Amino acid sequence: MTTTQTEQFTVRRSSADHSDNLPLPPAGHFINGSFVPGSSGQTIDVVDPTTEAVIASVQAGTADDVDVAVAAAVVAQKTWGATTPKERADVLNLIANIIEENRQSFQAIESANTGKPQAVSDDDVSSTIDTFRFMAGASRTLTSMAGGDYATDHTSVILREPVGVVGVITPWNYPLLMAAWKIAPILAAGNSIVIKPSEQTPLSTLKLVEVLAGRIPDGILNVVTGRGRTVGQRLSEHPDIALVALTGSVISGQAVAETAAKSVKRVHLELGGKAPVVVFPDADLRAAAAGVRNAGFWNAGQDCGAACRVLVHESVAEEFTEHLVREVSTLVVGAPEAGDDVEIGPMISLPHFERVKESLAEAREAGLTVAVGGSAMEGPGYFIEPTVISNVPAGAHIATHEIFGPVVTVETFGTTEEAVTRANESPYGLSASVWTRDSSLSLRIPKQLDFGTVWVNAHLVLACEVPWGGFKGSGYGRDLSLYALDDYSRTKHVMINHGA
Ligand code: NAD
Repeated sequence: MTTTQTEQFTVRRSSADHSDNLPLPPAGHFINGSFVPGSSGQTIDVVDPTTEAVIASVQAGTADDVDVAVAAAVVAQKTWGATTPKERADVLNLIANIIEENRQSFQAIESANTGKPQAVSDDDVSSTIDTFRFMAGASRTLTSMAGGDYATDHTSVILREPVGVVGVITPWNYPLLMAAWKIAPILAAGNSIVIKPSEQTPLSTLKLVEVLAGRIPDGILNVVTGRGRTVGQRLSEHPDIALVALTGSVISGQAVAETAAKSVKRVHLELGGKAPVVVFPDADLRAAAAGVRNAGFWNAGQDCGAACRVLVHESVAEEFTEHLVREVSTLVVGAPEAGDDVEIGPMISLPHFERVKESLAEAREAGLTVAVGGSAMEGPGYFIEPTVISNVPAGAHIATHEIFGPVVTVETFGTTEEAVTRANESPYGLSASVWTRDSSLSLRIPKQLDFGTVWVNAHLVLACEVPWGGFKGSGYGRDLSLYALDDYSRTKHVMINHGA
């Protein structure tokens, strides 16, 4: 092991180089059950953000590549959409089993491509498997309004149908898991898919179809790699795609929705977040600080639900900040292979690393207090110190825009009303948490918060049974749960006149 010393944290590295043993997938697009070359002949390099080395290249897809994939998906959907829920559930359970059989490969690829610690990629793979298992069961429980005679001599039947071919666009922060959150309910509802993974992290999605090839029906799951402005754009405009689902930034969501509007395509958007963590004076401050240590820094804070914006009552702000600084100071930064106790990996890419550094420089220029961390760490790799910025004034830029790194800000409030108003003063509405021992507050405050998920005395706890998705600038549509199945199916009313 070697370490790179900075002021407060060190990057733990491993001398062992595992890159030669990486079980890389083929580099083509995956269409109708096989890997095929791209039409442009151009490729995109895939970089390990821990070492800055190129570990693979994938096809830079084109609109023509998307068209070929969509044509295959249209044909496959006709057969797939006519299967019974049980038959679809069998396929989803098989997918879960195949991922489980290949768990080590997925973990290795995900950690190499994103730099995420082993504990995080392990959790990602487990949650991916659970997502397929949950949707396998859920697909057999879809219900609709009871059939009945709602008009004299006319019997109504409500059918749930697949929407058709779904275009999916995924981000880099949880490449496999975000793909699973889309693929599982979309297939469960009887649709076929053309998916475009992030150009920065396509490897685990390609690995998924490599291990599934020949074991699930051809054409129901197609992958076209490439950039948002080409492949993502074509998915958003293609006339044979019925719905496009994106997890990503607000700006990409706006672009997709604008393009999709031209063909009145359905859109499902899971966008950014800036989760407030509201700490009332009666809260267990140690538990709240430990909660922020975990939920603010999981995946190096590159999480749309990260507990990144603390609003703490002024009477306990100092004590809470002390606990938080102590907690954050113990985080272990390093490369994934440097030990299973590593907790913080690098930023995903050089441009993102630069963006996070810029936010930290802005905070310093604004005279804010850096209570711990605050700096980039020595390379190679795009590491940023776990950071807490305290005494942040209301409306400060660092507390209102999404940084998407290991940076937590601390603001104070005086009254309960102010806490609610300030928490809601955000363009985002994805998730929030409230920390209190007061049972009345624990019921009242979540109702007043404008966020799709509100935790009480917890943060970032997810389960497949419950919905995930945002309000306001965080988008619309729900991942996970029966609500996702609803989003990926359509309702048809059939009315039969049986009068004489
Ligand atoms: P991004 O928006 O840069 O990229 C996401 C995907 O969109 C990529 O595949 C990209 O190629 C594609 N894309 C970009 N421009 C496009 C366009 N014009 N048309 C079609 N597709 C386009 O986001 P990212 O940097 O990969 O991921 C980070 C963002 O994702 C953050 O804002 C984060 O909050 C958000 N996110 C949200 C959730 C959620 O559940 N709400 C989950 C994970 C990440």
